[in-house]
Amino acid sequence: MTERLRIGDEGLDAALANNRQKGLPAIDVSPTQGKLLTLLARMKGAKRILEIGTLGGYSTICLAQGMSDTGKIVTLEYEPKHAACAKENIAFAGYADQVDIIIGPALESLPILHEQQQSFDFIFIDADKPNNPHYVKWALKLASPGAVLVADNVIRDGEVLNRHSTDPRVQGIRTFVELLEQEERIEATAIQTVGEKGYDGFILGIVH
Ligand code: SAM
Repeated sequence: MTERLRIGDEGLDAALANNRQKGLPAIDVSPTQGKLLTLLARMKGAKRILEIGTLGGYSTICLAQGMSDTGKIVTLEYEPKHAACAKENIAFAGYADQVDIIIGPALESLPILHEQQQSFDFIFIDADKPNNPHYVKWALKLASPGAVLVADNVIRDGEVLNRHSTDPRVQGIRTFVELLEQEERIEATAIQTVGEKGYDGFILGIVH
């Protein structure tokens, strides 16, 4: 499928190879999911993108490929080793000048972005799932009107329907979805996906 749809290029392939070589976990978005991020960023004409959860920068590069030529991405990553690998990958792909990687817990970085009065027209949430309810609250503070909101791993093999799940990631997603129900500023849907990363899905929304 990826070949038929001409998905992937030298920068993206090199990022995956470098991630594996440096021992990063293979939890990046899949190539087809990454292409969806590229297309969504392009459809939005995104100029300022916030990503929570960089890993090795695979999804960052996908987003950069879709944003406007003068666009900027701020991406938040907790693990210095992941951030260092992402920095290499993003530079190799040609986006070093357009991407800022902020190292540290996202819940410490997000208030700083807010204090700096930064705003974003595209926000991708893909870090530690138990904190998703906090991330969506910060997304509401940092989103410009009409911003696109995307969150990954919201289906988790259907386990998200299990209210008794003891998995904190599942409970984080459940609380996140409950917040979406209550929050009138967000108009959202869930896109379920099946592929090399199993049965999972995205929340896709607009912040009014
Ligand atoms: N978006 C990446 C991609 O598709 O290429 C994958 C991100 S991976 C699923 C999640 C990343 O979030 C990991 O690199 C992890 O170290 C980072 N992370 C986990 N907890 C975090 C936190 N509290 N603050 C910032 N980053 C965190």
